Amino acid sequence: MALLEAFARPLEFENPAVAHADFLNERYAHSKTRELLDDVIHREFAGNIALVSSFGADSVVLLHLAASVEPAVPVIFIDTGKIFGSTHRYRDEVVSLLGLKNVRMARPDPALLATHDTDSGLWLREPDKCCAIRKVSPLSRALSGFDAWISGRKRYQGGRRAELPLIEADGDRIKINPLAEWTKEDLVAYRERHDLPEHPLVADGFRSIGCMPCTTRVAEGEDERNGRWRGTEKVECGIHLGLPSFETDGSGI
Ligand code: SF4
Repeated sequence: MALLEAFARPLEFENPAVAHADFLNERYAHSKTRELLDDVIHREFAGNIALVSSFGADSVVLLHLAASVEPAVPVIFIDTGKIFGSTHRYRDEVVSLLGLKNVRMARPDPALLATHDTDSGLWLREPDKCCAIRKVSPLSRALSGFDAWISGRKRYQGGRRAELPLIEADGDRIKINPLAEWTKEDLVAYRERHDLPEHPLVADGFRSIGCMPCTTRVAEGEDERNGRWRGTEKVECGIHLGLPSFETDGSGI
């Protein structure tokens, strides 16, 4: 119904998802995070929405909120093949603790790896292509059939994320960023209030945790995202940049 209402507005956008996102931003502008999650999971996108989680430094907060609303919500974890062992163990611990019932692994196509990353060193030579094969394409396949997805990005993380909207169009899908307005202090307070476990690498100086070869410790006072792809101009893996999947365009980026 909501989509029809969105269509009733002036047709100033070519992509219906943009108008739909606009409409939802107005609807949820004053909603609390849990109310928003409850509505998008149970009504607006019932049966057609997934949460994508890295099970990284702050992931447990959004996972806890989502599990409290609907433990069976599909949760997609991109297992790139380059993930820290401690992230895999932490994921299993969090899934068990929160009672998440529908966690799905998105993995790279073995044929693409065999063709383009024979020595497993593509991350060093062509990180954008590596992310396209190991992250963007697997997620694209995993999201097939879903109308919307939920991401855990926050504005305080800076860079492209500083202007993050609550709801946005992602191609012809809707992407929801329920924690867009949350501060680092909000996250810590929530985690402590609910006695949720912290990713073990955080205590070791890692504050944004992705693939092992592309993640470094972050110094006190440094932006947490500086620990990703350090020493390069790369700041995002590509799943939030609307890049076409590797198989689709064949370019790899
Ligand atoms: S983060 Fe690094 S290892 Fe992981 S997919 Fe991207 S380039 Fe490859």
